Order: sequence, then C-alpha cells, then structure tokens
Amino acid sequence: MQRSVAELESIVRDRICRVCSDRTVSGECGLEEPSSCILFQLFPQVAHAIESVHSVDICDYIDAIRANVCSICTHQDDDGRCEARRQVRCVLDSYLLLVVDAIEEATGQQFDRSNLNTRTGDTGLIPGIRP
Ligand code: SF4
Ligand code: SF4
Repeated sequence: MQRSVAELESIVRDRICRVCSDRTVSGECGLEEPSSCILFQLFPQVAHAIESVHSVDICDYIDAIRANVCSICTHQDDDGRCEARRQVRCVLDSYLLLVVDAIEEATGQQFDRSNLNTRTGDTGLIPGIRP
C-alpha cells in the first residue's frame, strides 16, 4: 500500500509520541526543542530507509536505518559511534521496533521478529524497548 511521507509521519507520531517517555502528562512533547526529536527531524530518511527494505528479517531494517539515517545524523561520529544511542537517548533507536511496526502495518509489509535477540545495537538493548 502506497503512503505519502506525511501520512506515514502522522501514523508514526500517533503511535510513538503516545508511548514516548519524553511526552508530558498533558500529552505534549517534553523536549526543550520538540523539533530536535531525531525521529521526526530525519523522518523522510527514516521512512525511505524502512520502505526500501523488503525483508522478513528485522535486522535488515536496523541495517537500513544505520546506513541511511545514522550515517547522516550529526550525533554519529566518524567511527560510527553514537553517544545518544549508547545512552538510550535517541527516540528513533529506542523505539525502532515500534516505528518499523507502524510503517510495516501502514504499508502492508510484514517481518519476522524471531531474530530480534541476535542484534541489539550499541546499547545491548532490544530495539524499541526502553529500560
Ligand atoms: S521526543 Fe519525539 S517521539 Fe517523543 S514525544 Fe517528542 S516528538 Fe514525540
Ligand atoms: S542512533 Fe544516533 S546516529 Fe542514529 S539517528 Fe539516533 S542519534 Fe542519530
């Protein structure tokens, strides 16, 4: 199913902001600068990366995010390390599974979650799950 980037962003905002730990009790983004949320700052690239993957393996989506989003993100250093990711401060990384899930659902794709524990990123956490 074809969706515009704006449609996908709206769907992902509805899904992620609702559960984001940075959301205030009144339901607004609690970041000092809401526009600094990496997930939505780079959303066109996020959506493109996820839509470019046609795989049953969630790891391929993680690789696409690293290659197409993290690679242009100012938080990642030249060695591919990201302090925000390491400290579980990147919303995109922290909620990656939910983001992929929302886009997959919106576009009618499906993937197999059985490999989730084989790749957990720099933090050692399962993508999409915050401690
Ligand atoms: S940090 Fe991002 S995901 Fe979280 S509430 Fe703000 S805009 Fe939504
Ligand atoms: S994990 Fe780091 S480099 Fe990747 S999008 Fe998040 S802040 Fe940027």
